[in-house]
Amino acid sequence: AGSGKFFVGGNWKCNGTKDSISKLISDLNSAKLESDVDVVVAPPFLYIDQVKSSLTDRIEISAQNCWTGKGGAFTGEISVEQLKDLGCKWVILGHSERRHIIGENDEFIGKKAAYALSQNIGVIACIGELLEEREAGKTFDVCFQQLKAFADALPSWDNVVIAYEPVWAIGTGKVATPEQAQEVHAAVRDWLSKNVSAEVASKTRIIYGGSANGSNCSDLAKKEDIDGFLVGGASLKGPEFASIVNSVT
Ligand code: PEP
Repeated sequence: AGSGKFFVGGNWKCNGTKDSISKLISDLNSAKLESDVDVVVAPPFLYIDQVKSSLTDRIEISAQNCWTGKGGAFTGEISVEQLKDLGCKWVILGHSERRHIIGENDEFIGKKAAYALSQNIGVIACIGELLEEREAGKTFDVCFQQLKAFADALPSWDNVVIAYEPVWAIGTGKVATPEQAQEVHAAVRDWLSKNVSAEVASKTRIIYGGSANGSNCSDLAKKEDIDGFLVGGASLKGPEFASIVNSVT
């Protein structure tokens, strides 16, 4: 881990029922969590209110998406104002499932991120390459292009955490090696220092996501540019998620 405060987010995706979520909340409420770690969970929108009212305040709440501007006549969307009303502090944007399954592009994602930040909601900004892009030697190009789209849209990086999530590692059980992840994290930091500022490069946390779990997190967490994790599957199990939080080194 680097010098920034370790950050671990749990992305519950489109999973859960009132019952399974209440069990997960009770497991999280009884888990022992290292104090020097920011811990965030992102439930499906429908359950945010339930989670906010019963989860310990030690853990902050993130949304998994938001609209690009103020709410209104946008059927099916959820506004940043509504997320704030429910007590959300963060939103995950640019997740590969939204880029590649739903079809969101850089510009649309950038608008959402800028609006969320303007309303004081923190952004977990996801970037990452597909397997074919990695195999074609384009990992840095893809990550830098996605980063540039965020950089062009964002008014400031104060409330942003970058999540490097290689798409081939998400939900596949095929985690990046600590060396593979560190190589991209260091490149992202270098890009920030050249294209934004040295201060943003050193302050911004860069977390890893893609099949991180209770067994592989400690080795990843030792790497100097890995400042935490965004966890999908393993965040649905309270004790395992807690062990990832506690992998801070
Ligand atoms: C994610 O979706 O952000 C993720 C990292 O998923 P998983 O941990 O299941 O690979």
